Amino acid sequence: MRENWFKIALTALLLADASVRLYYLKGRRKFERVAVKHEKRENFFYRLVGMGLIPISYYLLTPRIDAFRLPFPAWLRWSGAAIIFAGDLLFIWSHRALDKNWSPLLEIRKGHTLVTEGPYRFIRHPMYAAIFLIGTGILFLSANWTVASSYMLPVIFMYLIRVSDEEEMMVEQFGDEYRKYMKSTGRLLPKLNIKFNPVHDR
Ligand code: SAH
Repeated sequence: MRENWFKIALTALLLADASVRLYYLKGRRKFERVAVKHEKRENFFYRLVGMGLIPISYYLLTPRIDAFRLPFPAWLRWSGAAIIFAGDLLFIWSHRALDKNWSPLLEIRKGHTLVTEGPYRFIRHPMYAAIFLIGTGILFLSANWTVASSYMLPVIFMYLIRVSDEEEMMVEQFGDEYRKYMKSTGRLLPKLNIKFNPVHDR
């Protein structure tokens, strides 16, 4: 019976996640593209991510894959819900900061500006960081390795191939402005800027 509460919580959090995406997809007005990279490949990745949702729906709607359970205690599972929630907040914050510069594909739009505010002050890929946070939360909350890997594997695969192409595209567009921005930020984690003055023996 308790498993159903975890399922209800996960369903609610995933629906919240999906509605944020839909809201920003819908809000995107038609814009003129200046550049687009690897469009077919990116669309293929989205199909992979979509296929991962099939086992997740099985878990949420039926008891059929409940056997692939990991022995997590209830407190860890509920902290998974908190992690997903934190991921959702970071996701919304990133969307608000990127605003019209956001695109689900690797694209540069007409009038594209480089965003270095909000979460982009600290890291270059807060949306991907949010997606990984959500994945970690899904692992803990579902305590089901089939569910966790159906979400995480396509997303990790997509990230690993996409991120350097995205940065290359940004360098092509913004040149030294982006190179300088790269020096003060990390990809997914903030750069630790510990400056120290080495003491030399005279
Ligand atoms: N990698 C970012 C954005 C993902 S959306 C993140 O994880 O938060 C992908 C699109 O965002 C890319 O096509 C690119 O056009 C745009 N983009 C990425 N970083 C940007 C930035 N700092 N400023 C403006 N646009 C950016």
